[in-house]
Amino acid sequence: MRHQSLFIVIFVLLLTGCKQTEVVPNKRQGLISENEHLTLGNPSNATVDPSNYNNFLLEKPQYVLSYSRDTSIPNWVSWHVSTDWLGSAPRQDDFKADESLPGDWFRVSPGSYTSSGFDRGHNCPSADRTRSQEDNSATFLMTNMIPQAPDNNRNTWANLEEYTRSLVEQGQEVYVIMGNYGSGGTGSNGFARTIDDGRIRVPKQIWKVLVILPEGNDDLNRISANTRVIAVDTPNSNGVNSDWSLYRTSVDAIEKATGYDLLSSLPEDLQQVLEANIDKGPTQ
Ligand code: MN
Ligand code: MN
Repeated sequence: MRHQSLFIVIFVLLLTGCKQTEVVPNKRQGLISENEHLTLGNPSNATVDPSNYNNFLLEKPQYVLSYSRDTSIPNWVSWHVSTDWLGSAPRQDDFKADESLPGDWFRVSPGSYTSSGFDRGHNCPSADRTRSQEDNSATFLMTNMIPQAPDNNRNTWANLEEYTRSLVEQGQEVYVIMGNYGSGGTGSNGFARTIDDGRIRVPKQIWKVLVILPEGNDDLNRISANTRVIAVDTPNSNGVNSDWSLYRTSVDAIEKATGYDLLSSLPEDLQQVLEANIDKGPTQ
Protein backbone atom coordinates (compact mmCIF):
# COMPACT_ATOMS: atom_id res chain seq x y z
CA MET A 1 0.00 0.00 0.00
CA ARG A 2 2.74 2.48 1.00
CA HIS A 3 4.75 1.45 -2.03
CA GLN A 4 1.74 1.94 -4.29
CA SER A 5 1.11 5.47 -2.98
CA LEU A 6 4.76 6.35 -3.34
CA PHE A 7 4.70 5.02 -6.90
CA ILE A 8 1.66 7.18 -7.73
CA VAL A 9 3.29 10.26 -6.21
CA ILE A 10 6.46 9.69 -8.24
CA PHE A 11 4.38 9.05 -11.36
CA VAL A 12 2.46 12.31 -10.91
CA LEU A 13 5.69 14.21 -10.26
CA LEU A 14 7.16 12.76 -13.45
CA LEU A 15 4.08 13.75 -15.44
CA THR A 16 4.18 17.27 -14.02
CA GLY A 17 7.87 17.46 -14.82
CA CYS A 18 7.27 16.48 -18.44
CA LYS A 19 4.44 18.95 -18.77
CA GLN A 20 6.68 21.71 -17.42
CA THR A 21 9.43 21.04 -19.94
CA GLU A 22 6.84 21.25 -22.71
CA VAL A 23 5.75 24.74 -21.75
CA VAL A 24 9.15 26.24 -20.97
CA PRO A 25 8.71 29.64 -22.55
CA ASN A 26 10.38 30.08 -25.88
CA LYS A 27 11.86 33.53 -26.34
CA ARG A 28 9.61 34.18 -29.36
CA GLN A 29 6.54 32.32 -28.10
CA GLY A 30 4.88 35.20 -26.33
CA LEU A 31 4.99 37.23 -29.51
CA ILE A 32 3.32 34.71 -31.80
CA SER A 33 -0.06 35.95 -32.98
CA GLU A 34 -2.96 33.56 -33.34
CA ASN A 35 -3.47 34.91 -36.83
CA GLU A 36 -1.15 33.17 -39.29
CA HIS A 37 -1.03 36.30 -41.45
CA LEU A 38 0.44 38.30 -38.56
CA THR A 39 3.15 35.78 -37.74
CA LEU A 40 5.85 38.35 -38.53
CA GLY A 41 4.12 41.10 -36.57
CA ASN A 42 1.81 44.10 -37.00
CA PRO A 43 4.05 46.66 -38.75
CA SER A 44 2.13 49.79 -37.69
CA ASN A 45 0.51 48.50 -34.49
CA ALA A 46 -2.88 48.77 -36.18
CA THR A 47 -5.87 48.29 -33.87
CA VAL A 48 -9.55 47.43 -34.22
CA ASP A 49 -10.53 50.68 -32.51
CA PRO A 50 -12.45 52.82 -35.09
CA SER A 51 -11.05 56.00 -33.51
CA ASN A 52 -7.69 54.79 -34.85
CA TYR A 53 -9.19 55.55 -38.27
CA ASN A 54 -6.00 55.82 -40.27
CA ASN A 55 -4.43 52.68 -38.85
CA PHE A 56 -7.46 50.43 -38.51
CA LEU A 57 -6.89 46.69 -38.29
CA LEU A 58 -9.03 44.47 -40.52
CA GLU A 59 -8.47 40.76 -39.92
CA LYS A 60 -9.90 38.42 -42.52
CA PRO A 61 -9.42 34.67 -42.71
CA GLN A 62 -7.48 35.19 -45.95
CA TYR A 63 -5.28 38.22 -45.05
CA VAL A 64 -4.87 41.04 -42.56
CA LEU A 65 -4.51 44.74 -43.28
CA SER A 66 -4.18 48.20 -41.82
CA TYR A 67 -6.70 50.53 -43.45
CA SER A 68 -6.73 54.29 -43.69
CA ARG A 69 -10.17 55.90 -43.66
CA ASP A 70 -8.89 59.21 -44.99
CA THR A 71 -6.98 57.78 -47.96
CA SER A 72 -9.43 54.90 -48.65
CA ILE A 73 -6.60 52.43 -49.21
CA PRO A 74 -4.75 49.94 -47.04
CA ASN A 75 -1.45 51.06 -45.50
CA TRP A 76 -0.21 47.47 -45.71
CA VAL A 77 -1.62 43.99 -46.23
CA SER A 78 -0.02 40.85 -44.78
CA TRP A 79 -0.64 37.22 -45.73
CA HIS A 80 0.86 33.74 -45.82
CA VAL A 81 1.13 31.70 -49.01
CA SER A 82 1.66 27.96 -48.87
CA THR A 83 0.26 25.00 -50.77
CA ASP A 84 -2.66 25.03 -48.26
CA TRP A 85 -3.90 28.23 -49.90
CA LEU A 86 -3.54 27.12 -53.50
CA GLY A 87 -6.16 25.08 -55.31
CA SER A 88 -8.32 25.29 -58.38
CA ALA A 89 -10.95 27.89 -57.52
CA PRO A 90 -11.45 30.18 -60.54
CA ARG A 91 -10.90 33.93 -60.40
CA GLN A 92 -14.19 35.36 -59.10
CA ASP A 93 -13.74 38.94 -60.34
CA ASP A 94 -16.46 40.04 -57.92
CA PHE A 95 -15.02 43.41 -56.89
CA LYS A 96 -17.12 44.77 -54.02
CA ALA A 97 -17.24 47.34 -51.24
CA ASP A 98 -16.07 46.11 -47.84
CA GLU A 99 -19.15 46.19 -45.62
CA SER A 100 -17.07 45.33 -42.57
CA LEU A 101 -15.78 48.91 -42.31
CA PRO A 102 -17.38 51.09 -39.63
CA GLY A 103 -20.82 52.17 -40.88
CA ASP A 104 -20.18 55.90 -41.20
CA TRP A 105 -16.96 55.54 -43.22
CA PHE A 106 -16.74 56.16 -46.96
CA ARG A 107 -16.67 52.82 -48.77
CA VAL A 108 -14.82 52.46 -52.02
CA SER A 109 -17.06 50.79 -54.60
CA PRO A 110 -16.06 48.66 -57.60
CA GLY A 111 -16.70 51.64 -59.89
CA SER A 112 -14.62 54.13 -57.89
CA TYR A 113 -11.51 53.50 -60.04
CA THR A 114 -13.33 53.64 -63.40
CA SER A 115 -11.60 55.87 -66.01
CA SER A 116 -9.00 56.89 -63.41
CA GLY A 117 -6.06 55.57 -65.41
CA PHE A 118 -5.19 53.26 -62.52
CA ASP A 119 -5.93 49.57 -62.06
CA ARG A 120 -7.73 48.15 -59.08
CA GLY A 121 -4.45 46.63 -57.90
CA HIS A 122 -4.77 43.71 -55.51
CA ASN A 123 -2.52 43.61 -52.49
CA CYS A 124 -3.23 39.95 -51.62
CA PRO A 125 -3.45 38.56 -55.18
CA SER A 126 -6.43 36.62 -56.46
CA ALA A 127 -4.13 33.79 -57.55
CA ASP A 128 -2.70 33.40 -54.01
CA ARG A 129 -6.18 32.45 -52.77
CA THR A 130 -7.54 29.62 -54.89
CA ARG A 131 -8.35 27.01 -52.21
CA SER A 132 -12.06 27.89 -52.36
CA GLN A 133 -14.39 30.30 -54.13
CA GLU A 134 -14.93 32.07 -50.82
CA ASP A 135 -11.19 32.64 -50.32
CA ASN A 136 -10.79 33.92 -53.86
CA SER A 137 -13.81 36.19 -53.57
CA ALA A 138 -12.35 37.79 -50.41
CA THR A 139 -9.41 39.16 -52.42
CA PHE A 140 -11.86 41.28 -54.45
CA LEU A 141 -12.90 43.43 -51.49
CA MET A 142 -12.03 47.04 -52.33
CA THR A 143 -10.14 47.33 -49.01
CA ASN A 144 -7.55 45.01 -50.61
CA MET A 145 -7.01 47.41 -53.54
CA ILE A 146 -4.77 50.38 -54.34
CA PRO A 147 -4.79 52.57 -57.46
CA GLN A 148 -1.88 50.91 -59.24
CA ALA A 149 -0.27 52.10 -62.48
CA PRO A 150 -1.19 49.55 -65.16
CA ASP A 151 2.46 48.85 -66.09
CA ASN A 152 3.31 48.24 -62.46
CA ASN A 153 0.29 46.01 -61.81
CA ARG A 154 0.32 43.99 -65.01
CA ASN A 155 4.08 43.61 -65.47
CA THR A 156 6.36 44.34 -62.49
CA TRP A 157 3.96 43.24 -59.80
CA ALA A 158 2.45 40.35 -61.76
CA ASN A 159 5.98 38.97 -62.31
CA LEU A 160 6.82 39.20 -58.61
CA GLU A 161 3.52 37.53 -57.69
CA GLU A 162 4.22 34.74 -60.19
CA TYR A 163 7.72 34.29 -58.80
CA THR A 164 6.31 34.03 -55.27
CA ARG A 165 3.91 31.26 -56.24
CA SER A 166 6.66 29.47 -58.18
CA LEU A 167 8.62 29.30 -54.91
CA VAL A 168 5.61 27.72 -53.22
CA GLU A 169 5.35 25.21 -56.05
CA GLN A 170 9.03 24.39 -55.43
CA GLY A 171 8.37 23.49 -51.77
CA GLN A 172 8.70 26.86 -50.05
CA GLU A 173 6.18 28.83 -48.03
CA VAL A 174 6.20 32.60 -48.06
CA TYR A 175 5.12 35.36 -45.70
CA VAL A 176 4.26 38.48 -47.66
CA ILE A 177 3.75 42.06 -46.54
CA MET A 178 2.80 44.60 -49.18
CA GLY A 179 2.32 48.29 -48.63
CA ASN A 180 2.66 51.74 -50.09
CA TYR A 181 3.65 55.28 -49.15
CA GLY A 182 3.69 58.80 -50.48
CA SER A 183 1.17 60.35 -52.82
CA GLY A 184 1.14 60.72 -56.57
CA GLY A 185 1.55 58.14 -59.30
CA THR A 186 1.48 58.11 -63.09
CA GLY A 187 -1.23 56.00 -64.67
CA SER A 188 -2.49 55.78 -68.22
CA ASN A 189 -4.04 59.29 -67.96
CA GLY A 190 -0.89 60.87 -66.51
CA PHE A 191 0.03 61.98 -63.02
CA ALA A 192 -2.54 62.03 -60.21
CA ARG A 193 -2.37 62.37 -56.44
CA THR A 194 -5.92 61.15 -55.89
CA ILE A 195 -8.81 59.62 -57.82
CA ASP A 196 -12.58 59.51 -57.31
CA ASP A 197 -12.88 63.27 -56.62
CA GLY A 198 -10.09 63.25 -54.08
CA ARG A 199 -11.48 60.39 -52.03
CA ILE A 200 -8.82 57.80 -52.87
CA ARG A 201 -5.10 58.47 -52.57
CA VAL A 202 -2.77 57.30 -55.33
CA PRO A 203 0.42 56.01 -53.69
CA LYS A 204 3.81 57.17 -54.92
CA GLN A 205 5.67 53.96 -54.07
CA ILE A 206 4.57 50.35 -53.73
CA TRP A 207 6.70 47.93 -51.69
CA LYS A 208 6.72 44.29 -50.75
CA VAL A 209 8.67 42.12 -48.33
CA LEU A 210 8.85 38.33 -48.74
CA VAL A 211 10.17 35.94 -46.09
CA ILE A 212 10.81 32.54 -47.63
CA LEU A 213 11.08 29.24 -45.75
CA PRO A 214 11.07 25.58 -46.72
CA GLU A 215 7.53 24.24 -46.12
CA GLY A 216 7.31 23.12 -42.48
CA ASN A 217 5.95 23.87 -39.01
CA ASP A 218 6.75 26.36 -36.24
CA ASP A 219 7.65 28.93 -38.88
CA LEU A 220 8.62 31.87 -36.70
CA ASN A 221 11.21 29.82 -34.84
CA ARG A 222 12.75 28.55 -38.06
CA ILE A 223 13.64 32.02 -39.30
CA SER A 224 17.39 32.53 -38.99
CA ALA A 225 20.11 34.85 -40.27
CA ASN A 226 20.25 32.62 -43.36
CA THR A 227 16.55 32.95 -44.22
CA ARG A 228 15.95 34.54 -47.62
CA VAL A 229 14.18 37.89 -47.36
CA ILE A 230 13.33 39.86 -50.50
CA ALA A 231 12.34 43.53 -50.24
CA VAL A 232 11.30 45.60 -53.25
CA ASP A 233 10.19 49.22 -53.53
CA THR A 234 8.79 50.31 -56.90
CA PRO A 235 7.47 53.59 -58.33
CA ASN A 236 3.72 53.57 -58.97
CA SER A 237 4.25 54.78 -62.50
CA ASN A 238 3.71 53.64 -66.02
CA GLY A 239 7.11 53.11 -67.55
CA VAL A 240 8.32 51.18 -64.48
CA ASN A 241 10.63 48.35 -65.52
CA SER A 242 8.87 45.00 -65.69
CA ASP A 243 11.88 43.37 -63.95
CA TRP A 244 11.07 43.60 -60.24
CA SER A 245 14.57 42.51 -59.27
CA LEU A 246 15.92 45.94 -60.31
CA TYR A 247 13.96 47.44 -57.39
CA ARG A 248 15.36 45.24 -54.65
CA THR A 249 16.22 47.12 -51.49
CA SER A 250 16.60 46.46 -47.76
CA VAL A 251 13.80 46.11 -45.24
CA ASP A 252 15.61 48.85 -43.32
CA ALA A 253 15.07 51.24 -46.25
CA ILE A 254 11.33 50.46 -46.30
CA GLU A 255 11.11 50.91 -42.54
CA LYS A 256 12.83 54.28 -42.89
CA ALA A 257 10.46 55.40 -45.65
CA THR A 258 7.27 54.24 -43.87
CA GLY A 259 8.04 54.52 -40.17
CA TYR A 260 6.85 50.92 -39.70
CA ASP A 261 8.61 48.15 -37.82
CA LEU A 262 8.60 45.15 -40.14
CA LEU A 263 9.37 41.61 -38.96
CA SER A 264 8.80 42.87 -35.41
CA SER A 265 8.04 39.36 -34.09
CA LEU A 266 11.67 38.44 -34.60
CA PRO A 267 14.34 39.13 -31.97
CA GLU A 268 16.05 42.51 -32.48
CA ASP A 269 19.44 41.00 -33.31
CA LEU A 270 17.92 38.86 -36.05
CA GLN A 271 15.92 41.79 -37.44
CA GLN A 272 19.16 43.79 -37.64
CA VAL A 273 20.84 41.15 -39.77
CA LEU A 274 17.91 40.31 -42.04
CA GLU A 275 16.71 43.90 -42.52
CA ALA A 276 20.08 45.35 -43.55
CA ASN A 277 20.56 42.83 -46.35
CA ILE A 278 19.66 43.36 -50.01
CA ASP A 279 18.68 40.11 -51.73
CA LYS A 280 20.88 38.90 -54.59
CA GLY A 281 19.21 35.53 -55.10
CA PRO A 282 17.59 34.08 -58.20
CA THR A 283 14.66 36.00 -59.65
CA GLN A 284 12.88 33.41 -61.75
MN1 MN B 1 -2.32 42.92 -59.48
MN1 MN C 1 11.90 45.55 -38.04
